[in-house]
Amino acid sequence: MEGTVGSAALLPVTQTVEFDTALIRKLSQLGPRYTSYPTADRFNAEFGYRDYLQAVTGATARGNMHPLSLYIHIPFCESICYYCGCNKIVTKDRSKAANYLVYLKREIEMQGKLLAGANRIEQLHFGGGTPTYLSDAQMGDLMQHLRRWFNFAPDAEGEYSIEVDPRTVTPERVHSLRRQGFNRISLGVQDFDADVQEAVNRIQPESETVAIIDAARAAGFRSVSVDLIYGLPKQNLHTMEQTLQKVIAADPDRIAIYNYAHMPHLFKPQRRIAEADLPSAETKLDMLALCISRLNEAGYIYIGMDHFAKPTDDLAVAQRQGRLHRNFQGYSTHVGADLVSCGVSAISAIGATYSQNVKTLDEYYEHIEQNELPIARGIKLNMDDLLRRIIIQMLMCNFELSIASIELAYPITFNSYFATELVKLRELEQSGLLTIDEEWITVTPKGRLLIRNICMVFDRYLASAQSARADDSTTQPLRYSKTI
Ligand code: SF4
Repeated sequence: MEGTVGSAALLPVTQTVEFDTALIRKLSQLGPRYTSYPTADRFNAEFGYRDYLQAVTGATARGNMHPLSLYIHIPFCESICYYCGCNKIVTKDRSKAANYLVYLKREIEMQGKLLAGANRIEQLHFGGGTPTYLSDAQMGDLMQHLRRWFNFAPDAEGEYSIEVDPRTVTPERVHSLRRQGFNRISLGVQDFDADVQEAVNRIQPESETVAIIDAARAAGFRSVSVDLIYGLPKQNLHTMEQTLQKVIAADPDRIAIYNYAHMPHLFKPQRRIAEADLPSAETKLDMLALCISRLNEAGYIYIGMDHFAKPTDDLAVAQRQGRLHRNFQGYSTHVGADLVSCGVSAISAIGATYSQNVKTLDEYYEHIEQNELPIARGIKLNMDDLLRRIIIQMLMCNFELSIASIELAYPITFNSYFATELVKLRELEQSGLLTIDEEWITVTPKGRLLIRNICMVFDRYLASAQSARADDSTTQPLRYSKTI
């Protein structure tokens, strides 16, 4: 399948994306998703608690801290979805969550004290796992605790979001979440087809999901987002067409369509998926083309990577105004905000550092018992990292890069500093993914779906790993998913 989705004559540039099957087939490879640069696999255990304290002290001492983003990780789930690659704990024993909350609240208090005076929050995200594994009362208590230690911007100014598994909430609970302070909600749907749901062990009746979307709208959530996945077992063009019709009829503000990456060597639950049930690579590409085509016809704009939004949604508006940002939760409208994350395995980004919490509950509890933030690893960014981070950020969010703005902000001459990268970019230009002139690198509509390939050119760590691998015949890193 090949064709142009969107028309440059009718729509602003950011709305066009062109699906070129031959090009995607030729260039799709394994690569990072760039929710951070350097990517999390570059974090090291030499970075610890004291480095984090230093980063926070540096940021607060400069006195110019922007409002913060806050991420809270709730790792528990009731049952396992076979496609899952998340860091989660599957248990029906609710006392585990109650115990976790005791420690999570202590971590929040430690962070709140550390950031006192620079603790205004304009963005909050609850992820997991399943945040709504917590009971209504537990969530209310946790939100109160957060307000005790952080200074939240008023509802109209802040973006307070939660990931919801529709199987775990009722319409009444959705209203309660709104009263507790959330104003954005994202729902995991994945696919409405009964056979697909059975093949991934996630039975979720359509009527219940639609009731939750309707309740979110009635409760006054500012944005309702739906997550879908293509490439799941038993999926085909017919099931995808039907799911898309139903999702579009439910009218969410944002739709994310993720590529299922079958990596059973990394994610144990995926071993329960019968490989014979997986759609072929051809069918997957056809499904993606179908998704783009149907969403475009329904008026959704391609934001980038896996994300689509209505033209009136904040993400689309921010992209038009050049203030779209990308962080661990995907695209965001809060440019440059430092991110403080609490909970097991959560990743923070303060100043020129990234840090990640320990991944097991035992280690998490042990650190907090010792009154230490549970940081396991991280990285301090050097000037080259910061430069490449901003370039990757601009390309991912705006699909263009002003060479002059980079030269103004950093003491480099772009053409000589990135001489090697420009050779690779010229090859991608030949393939039609981008154009380069003296002032701009501009991603073309057919390059947008392959934006990860373009960003990979600027990834210094990937380049050095590739030259090291040239000696041992491994061609691609197995920990990454395919770029398309
Ligand atoms: S996909 Fe979500 S709900 Fe399912 S097991 Fe993974 S984290 Fe839990």
